[in-house]
Amino acid sequence: MKSSGGTSETTAILLSGGLDSAILLGHLLDQGVRVQPIYIATDCIWQAAEQQAIEQFLAVLGSDATLPLVELAVPLADLYGEHWSMTGSNVPDESTSDEAVLLWGRNPLLLVKAMLWCSIHGISRLALATLQGNPFSDASPRFFRQFAMSLATATCTDVNILRPFAEMSKAEILGLRSDLPLHLTVSCLAPRAGKHCGVCNKCAERAEALRLMPGGDPTIYANELGLVDQIF
Ligand SMILES: [Zn+2]
Repeated sequence: MKSSGGTSETTAILLSGGLDSAILLGHLLDQGVRVQPIYIATDCIWQAAEQQAIEQFLAVLGSDATLPLVELAVPLADLYGEHWSMTGSNVPDESTSDEAVLLWGRNPLLLVKAMLWCSIHGISRLALATLQGNPFSDASPRFFRQFAMSLATATCTDVNILRPFAEMSKAEILGLRSDLPLHLTVSCLAPRAGKHCGVCNKCAERAEALRLMPGGDPTIYANELGLVDQIF
């Protein structure tokens, strides 16, 4: 397909609304990169909270080097059915294992449309905020290498997957850009009334990381306000 006018100077980024990709955006801007943020709308239970977080984060960031957000739809309800990611019921809490938070095929699902969009628009780099210690096979170097090769074979274009945080922990990346408006990000599997639930696996991970920040964790958690029901 013919390019519609992108630039090889631009790096796309998968922005989720969470801490890691927000810091990656700031990190790329620090390097003088023009950034094309992409959000994948999957219709998971946290989507509205993520979209609001991204809108607010980008507005406050006010970066001239950040292009308008591109949203691509990859609806998963027909695939995931009654899974907790669709219903918000019985979401994994802080006591659950890594395997419990697996979203089946998450990275191939997120990547395929984003990479094709990059191909069509002449963008040759797509950055992900994958961190050190991600236990899932679709976050392995082998997966990313082979997936990029398959897309290149399919489209005869190269989109390189960049993972600058692949050898870094969450605490380490927080040290890179703690000045960002990270309080506007959202990392929750079951937001309640527009707030982090305070009970799920992601909230626990977020709280543990943000407690180490100079100002502590600014997040207002719904469970502390009595807004979390018996679903958990
Ligand atoms: Zn939560």
